Order: sequence, then structure tokens, then C-alpha cells
Amino acid sequence: MLVSPRYSSLEQVHSAFELGKETCASLVEYYLQKINETASLNAYIEVFADEARLRAKALDEKYKATPALVGRLFGMVVSLKDVICYEGHKVTAASKILEGFESLFSATAVERLLAEDAIIIGRVNCDQFAMGSTNENSVYGPTRNGLNSEKVPGGSSGASAVSVQVDTCLASLGSDTGGSVRQPAAFCGVVGLKPTYGRISRYGLLAYGSSFDQIGTLTHSIQDAGLLLEIMAGSDGFDGTASSSPVGKYSEKTESKTYKMAYFDTAIQHEGMDAEIQKQTLDYFLKLRDKGHQVESVTFDLLDFMIPAYYVLTTAEASSNLSRYDGVRYGYRHSAAKSLEDVYALSRTEGFSMEVKKRIMLGAFVLSAGYYDAYYSKAQQIRRLLSDRTKEILAEYDFIILPVSPTSVGNIGEASTDAVAMYLADIYTVYANMVGMPAIAFPIGVHQKDKMPIGIQLMANKFEEQKLLACAGQLYH
Ligand code: GLN
Repeated sequence: MLVSPRYSSLEQVHSAFELGKETCASLVEYYLQKINETASLNAYIEVFADEARLRAKALDEKYKATPALVGRLFGMVVSLKDVICYEGHKVTAASKILEGFESLFSATAVERLLAEDAIIIGRVNCDQFAMGSTNENSVYGPTRNGLNSEKVPGGSSGASAVSVQVDTCLASLGSDTGGSVRQPAAFCGVVGLKPTYGRISRYGLLAYGSSFDQIGTLTHSIQDAGLLLEIMAGSDGFDGTASSSPVGKYSEKTESKTYKMAYFDTAIQHEGMDAEIQKQTLDYFLKLRDKGHQVESVTFDLLDFMIPAYYVLTTAEASSNLSRYDGVRYGYRHSAAKSLEDVYALSRTEGFSMEVKKRIMLGAFVLSAGYYDAYYSKAQQIRRLLSDRTKEILAEYDFIILPVSPTSVGNIGEASTDAVAMYLADIYTVYANMVGMPAIAFPIGVHQKDKMPIGIQLMANKFEEQKLLACAGQLYH
């Protein structure tokens, strides 16, 4: 493990509780102190210090009275990405357009964590409306990587990853539309899980691309990722896309097994691939084979369609989703607006960042008459082809194994000079969202040049989180 937290799993926290070495109250104090010490990284937008202290005290009392009555997440301290609603708390998607807006209800995922006695410690930074790969597209300024503050933490759930990385909480909820949980996890040296589309309710998650979005987790351990998923997953009357397929025992420890994994030469040998990441990925495959897993190359010639199709479809969905921020219903309204049209135009012009406006315009364009067939329909066809080919592969193999990012962690300020390069670097992560399948990223090593972490990604068939987590748990601990 590249980072050295006080506790790297909830199991460890619980052991400390049992030995009387720790209480929720002392744990919350520890994390609050870490938040202060690492404030210059700009991970937290808001710290719920008093609230967390009060809740910790109440939970300690509950535990003292009847230990058996506490929930499964008793003492799990969690941060929330600023796109997830928590009743009575602000949520802004790191955008001026939601300035001052308070959630009227909690996301189902948050409700379920609270019901199991988790403690929410604060709201963390992200890319505006989850659009970005560096956490620099934020009205609050960039979040910095805790391993090197000149470096980005990845994005869009960059601050979620940093909050876990620098030990200000045990876990964080992020969202993943095209890699926003997995890529920051890889850049920060932690574990990032994006579940199957529909595995966790999206109710209370601010929408970016509704057919791609999923809440995901950032943790130190695979086991905690499983535990959080187990608690948050399942059907929800508030979200018709939340699946009712049975929720597995994702946190259970399982016996070691060997698996069949497919990889793509086209991915590993891709022209944009960093030589060191390529080498370490191939070395990792050798290690897997040594452990008895089958790691085989399969033909896959759709890789280069991935990014264009993803950016057409997600911007199209975003252009519709973000139309609700009109200066009337939520948050920011331009003070000089006189007519209704002015309210819309001025509030949106000032409220959204350049990146968000670019995507809204691109989305409106690809959906417009005369261009719809050339872009939107084509991208949907690609999505179908990808899905079909992936199902074929996963009928034969347990997982597809992929790098997380073709390039290493960038410096703050770099991405703004080349937006296309930033989009292209999402090549390996958008895949899981295009096909709606679960994927998990975890660290495999350190880049020799910049000493930043390198991750790997396993993707499984829909609703095969149990197998995915069992394998990841075997490979990373
Ligand atoms: N970097 C990708 C994008 O900007 C992914 C973002 C995400 O998963 N929310 O669209």
C-alpha cells in the first residue's frame, strides 16, 4: 500500500473498538485533525465537524448500551462528493449555478449508509457536474494529489480519492460516468469500484449522463468496497433504473480461485500508452499467470470508437439533464436579469464553467436536426456493437483486464492546455460505462519516473460484482 492510513478497513476499526483502543468520538477527532493538516490539498468544500462529533457521541452511547444493536457500518467515516444529496446540506456539483442550494432529501445511497450507522464527515470537491479528469474544473479551485501537491488527483471524483488517500475518512462516495471513480483511485493509490449500471439507485445523484452514471466507492480495501456496495445496492422506488436483481454478499471473504482473464493487444499496444505503464501492466499479467490465472489476448477492434461515442452520448444526455439549471428553480440567479430570457441566459452564462458550457453546446449540436443521424445514432450503434462484442468475450472469460489510464498523473494546469488529450486519456475507463458493466481499479505499482501510483482495472459481466470483488480481494490486500 502506497499510503499508510491509521485503519485500512472497517474490520480494523471494529477490532480497535472491541479492544477499547478507539471510539467513534476519538476516531472522528483523528479524522478532523487530518482534514486540518491537509487543508492545502483543497479536498473538502465543507466539513461537518460538529455534526460528526454529535453523531459519534450518540453512536458510542448506543454501542456502550447494547453492542449488538449497532449497524454494520458503525464507525465508518465517509466523505461525499459534491454531486450527492444529503438532506439539509449544500450540494453544488462544484458549480456556481448551484450556489447556496441545499438538498431537500438524501440520496438513497446516503440513506442506506446512515441507516447502518456510518458517519458523514464532509462534502468534497470534484469537477463541475462531474465533467473532467483532473478535478481542476471546479468553482472551488483544483484539488491536489496528496502524494505530490504539484500533481492532479484525477477526476472527476478527485477529492473523494484524496480524502481517503490522506486519511481524512475511511471511505468516500463518488460518481462514475466514464471513469470518475476508477481513474482518481488509480492516481491516488486507492481502490475504486464502479458497480453495474443500476446496481445502486441514482436517486439523489446529480445527473450528468443518466444512462452512464453510477455511484461508486473509494476505499483502501476491496472488502470495504464490497461492504459499502452490499449496503447501498438494490431496488429503489425512487429510481426505476435501479435493478431488483438480488444483492450478493459482496463483503464476504471467499476461497482463492483461479480465473480466466482477457486482455486486448490493441489496448496494451495503443499509441497513446506510456511505456512504463505498458511494461508494468505486462509484468502484472506475468504475475497473474504465475499465480495460476489464465490471461489471454483476445481480438478487439472497437477501441478507437470508444472516446468519440462516449463524448457524443454523454454530452447529448448532459445537454438535456443540465437544462433544469435555468436560474429559476435552483441556486444562482443573475441579479441584473430583467426579462425571463435574461434570467436564463445570464444565469447560465455565468453559472456554468467553460467546460460545462462546451459540453452542453456539443450535446445540443449532436442532437440537432441534420446531425442527429451522423453523430447520436452512430454513437448508439457503436454502443450496441461494444455491448455485443463484450458479452461474447465475457461468455468465455471471467474478466476483461485493462489499464486504468494510458498516461501517468499530470501536473496541475496541464490539462487546460490540451482538452482533447484529456478526453483521450479516458479510453480505458469509459468502456465499463458504455456497456453498463462493473469495474474495479486498484494499485499495482509505482511509476519509476514520477513515483506516482499505477492502477489496473478488472471488468466483469453485469451484476457479477460478487466474482469481481472476490478476485480483486485475492489480488490486492
Ligand atoms: N472524464 C470523463 C468525463 O469528463 C469521466 C467523468 C465521469 O466519470 N464523471 O466525462
